[in-house]
Amino acid sequence: MEATGITGWAEKNSFKYYLVPSTCCSSEWIQAASCRYDLERFGCVEVLSPEEAELLIIQGFVNEAMAGELKETYSKMPHPKKVLALGACASQGGSFFEKGVSAHELFPVDVWAAGCPPRPEAIMNAILVLQKGSHK
Ligand code: SF4
Repeated sequence: MEATGITGWAEKNSFKYYLVPSTCCSSEWIQAASCRYDLERFGCVEVLSPEEAELLIIQGFVNEAMAGELKETYSKMPHPKKVLALGACASQGGSFFEKGVSAHELFPVDVWAAGCPPRPEAIMNAILVLQKGSHK
């Protein structure tokens, strides 16, 4: 059940996120999280455990060997939980298409940030889409 009032507003506009980084998308993610773009302005704070996270960010290439671990990570997250697939690889296998696994094959994805790699603006837009609830 979703909280209402000020608690609901705070929950809707802030995310504790758990990041699964893998490959070259990291360079743009670092830009988005650093002081120039500063994702913390949008209430995004990284946590180091999926049990504390509301948002799972899959960044870059996912292969079959990683799939089981990622599903377990997702299952550890409390409800309500959201998933952001960041970049062409996480979204549809990307440049490594024959070996890559799309995040939506493992669990429901709420929003995608397009690009190879996605620009920080695309990452920020995906966060805003989640906050506005326009992904539903
Ligand atoms: S989407 Fe592009 S930049 Fe991101 S991990 Fe895949 S190949 Fe690298």
